[in-house]
Amino acid sequence: MNVTIPATKADWQALAETLIPRLESRAFIDGAFVDAASGETFATVNPATGETLAYVASCDAADAELAVSCARAAHARGEWARLAPGRRKQTLLKLAELMEAHQHELALLDTLDMGKPISSSLGDIAGAIGCLRYTAEGIDKVYGEVAPTGEESLGLVLREPLGVVAAIVPWNFPLMMTAWKIAPALAAGNSVILKPSEKSPLSALRLASLAREAGLPRGVFQVLPGFGHTVGKALALSMQVDCLAFTGSTAVGKQLMQYAGQSNLKRVYLECGGKAPNIVFADCKNLDQVANHAAAAIFHNQGEVCIAGSRLLVENSIREEFVERVLEAAEGMQPGDPLDPQSFMGAMVDETQYRKVLGFIEKGREEGARLRTSGATLAGPGLFIPPTIFDGVTPAMTIGREEIFGPVLSVFGFDSEEEAIALANDSDYGLAAGLWSQDIDRIMRLSRRLHSGQVFVNNWAGPDMTVPFGGVKQSGNGRDKSLHALTEYTELKTVWMALAP
Ligand code: NAD
Repeated sequence: MNVTIPATKADWQALAETLIPRLESRAFIDGAFVDAASGETFATVNPATGETLAYVASCDAADAELAVSCARAAHARGEWARLAPGRRKQTLLKLAELMEAHQHELALLDTLDMGKPISSSLGDIAGAIGCLRYTAEGIDKVYGEVAPTGEESLGLVLREPLGVVAAIVPWNFPLMMTAWKIAPALAAGNSVILKPSEKSPLSALRLASLAREAGLPRGVFQVLPGFGHTVGKALALSMQVDCLAFTGSTAVGKQLMQYAGQSNLKRVYLECGGKAPNIVFADCKNLDQVANHAAAAIFHNQGEVCIAGSRLLVENSIREEFVERVLEAAEGMQPGDPLDPQSFMGAMVDETQYRKVLGFIEKGREEGARLRTSGATLAGPGLFIPPTIFDGVTPAMTIGREEIFGPVLSVFGFDSEEEAIALANDSDYGLAAGLWSQDIDRIMRLSRRLHSGQVFVNNWAGPDMTVPFGGVKQSGNGRDKSLHALTEYTELKTVWMALAP
């Protein structure tokens, strides 16, 4: 498809000026855009400028109840749930096509809403479209089973949709995290209620209108903007929601499990926080290249990444030299105007996150880590924090343990494989880990011993849809991406038939 993407900062600014006055800010319930039942709204603000972009419907329990009953009704009508998988595929492919046609608009919404650079947002939207396509293509290729019984019976193992899925997502990759949840849930035939983050609701609302245009029946895909403690909690406590698909913090993930226990034991799939170790051995071939990757692994998306390589573990024999190279790489990754296609980093999502990250930097100083960058912020109204690097970090330090979710790198030293693995696994989290070495035996040994849902060897963050994405320990229990995600949104049903001799 030929889509003209704005090329310069001025082009993006011009597009923003035409887009902002006509933003959709209402909830999407049962196929229509509506105000919240209470009439309440909340402001969504561009963190790079402080400008209020829109006042968005602030849904609460009443809206959740309405949306859940519409979702249940849609499921019972079966126009989507009982549609042949191949037909669902066509609709989802149509949605992907519409997203592609509007990719620059969707990318701009995410950039304006949460401050990430426009080039990153374009990559995210391409990822979201790829996710829709991969998953849609998968749905008519996943088979049930015939059990190995004797001739007197037939045991069928069928996969059925769960029913109503509530997808609760964060703000750091607004549309991509949304796609990772809604694509498999919809492909499997469920009715989906999406609760975007209150910090980035705009692209989800645009997606709703594209989904309607693609032909998703009313009630099958709904969007409820609003706060976690109001509409999010109501969805999580609902007796009529069958599954919570969550991406967000570990603290909220724990709450959701409790809500499920207090209500109907709905399935809870959690994709939570991380504190990924990125382990560099002295035998790496091209240290400059590795240093570049190590810097990008933490500073990409302003460090607001669940799999950010926030703990850099470097073999002591090369540590001094390697940190110098990372500092050099970080120099080229300074934050800039998110609408400038050349910017590598943008603004922090909001004042709260900005203050939180600055608090961690202060803590690092107080606890005795060696600050290797200035630690200063940028002047002006935007919430910009430059790359910040601490060396000599230990697991006892707050910055060595807690998820910062900002552009702050903690460097640790190690002398042996055993020490590296002990440091890497000394964390409540287990989402991702990186290994840089030329020694294949070491790579295999350590890959197996890392307590992590994903291990990246001589790269950071595999880019495509073919492998599962998720964590262990307090990073959660779910798996996004790949065909494994598709089966998470189905229920296994046994049909046992006795056959006449
Ligand atoms: P968050 O947990 O504060 O919010 C996530 C979502 O949950 C939001 O939509 C929020 O409104 C909602 N929510 C908050 N309280 C709720 C409640 N009581 N009931 C129901 N819903 C509630 O997280 P965040 O700040 O939006 O995102 C950052 C976190 O997300 C980080 O910890 C990051 O590591 C994690 N994350 C994980 C992955 C992954 O795949 N593992 C990906 C991206 C982000």
